[in-house]
Amino acid sequence: MKVLRELDAGLMDHTSWLKVLHRSMVSGSAPSPTDLLHDAHCHCRFGQWYYGHPHPDLQEGPWFRNIGEFHENVHVYARKLLVKRNSGQPVTPDEYDQFMDMAIRFKLEVRGLQSDIINRVCEVDHLTGARNRNSMHFKLMEEHDRMSRNAQPCCVCMMDIDHFKQVNDTYGHLAGDSVLHSTVQFLSKKMRRYDTIFRFGGEEFLFCLPNTEAQEAFTIVDRLRAELASMPIKLKAHNDISITASFGLASMNPDEAVDDAVQQADHALLCAKAAGRNKVCLWDMQAGE
Ligand code: GH3
Ligand code: MG
Ligand code: MG
Repeated sequence: MKVLRELDAGLMDHTSWLKVLHRSMVSGSAPSPTDLLHDAHCHCRFGQWYYGHPHPDLQEGPWFRNIGEFHENVHVYARKLLVKRNSGQPVTPDEYDQFMDMAIRFKLEVRGLQSDIINRVCEVDHLTGARNRNSMHFKLMEEHDRMSRNAQPCCVCMMDIDHFKQVNDTYGHLAGDSVLHSTVQFLSKKMRRYDTIFRFGGEEFLFCLPNTEAQEAFTIVDRLRAELASMPIKLKAHNDISITASFGLASMNPDEAVDDAVQQADHALLCAKAAGRNKVCLWDMQAGE
């Protein structure tokens, strides 16, 4: 991946910069003039890449900002050492340690960002941008543990696009792919920040709605259903189309396995389909349907 290679190249550049700085410190040779500038961190090659804002989505998480802070501090400490040495004063071991700690911390932060990117890529379904089924299991287990510990409710919802085969048959599979993508992007924007959408398979998606009682989840999902049904979807070389979906909701139970709730949501989805589609059905524990 391009961004991982850029980060690797950035670390390599910084290691080379560190080598030149050490050589100057040890041998007394003249440092690079830019290292003495107050904005030295903007002049090294890593800084040029960083402040060139290479990837907007990188800037979302905390890692990217932290890297900027650590990187700037590395240069601030380097400048301090160089200024001291240029004025003939000795650099103390503490000052040197602080500088090196900062340089090591910076490297660790970059590695952290890289593994965060790798994890994100491994957890995402490329076609739709939803989280994939692999990561669903871990997230649901996490929520199940949380509800057992804190007695917080959590609901799962299975969604299946109605008559999706007709979309493929009428407009082709690529158009169908684009509908899947638009649907997930639309729903993700409409959902609460802490809700997650997973691609369960094909045109079926599972929502995880933490900290939500069944009735509240019903209201939320019914709103999503109505909004989805009135969303125009753009297709290349065709007029806009619209779709509907059916939804089955179930509450997680701390005394039952996570898969039980998923299965109950699936049963509720069948009820929504049987009731005419474009509906939300809630699994009824007493009735067993
Ligand atoms: P229902 O309302 O009963 O759910 O009808 P449906 O047509 O949506 O259901 P059906 O199971 O008959 O068809 C699902 C279709 O979804 C068939 C399959 O080709 C299509 N599909 C599954 N995954 C993808 C995908 O990744 N891309 C595209 N374009 N189509 C997909
Ligand atoms: Mg289906
Ligand atoms: Mg379907």
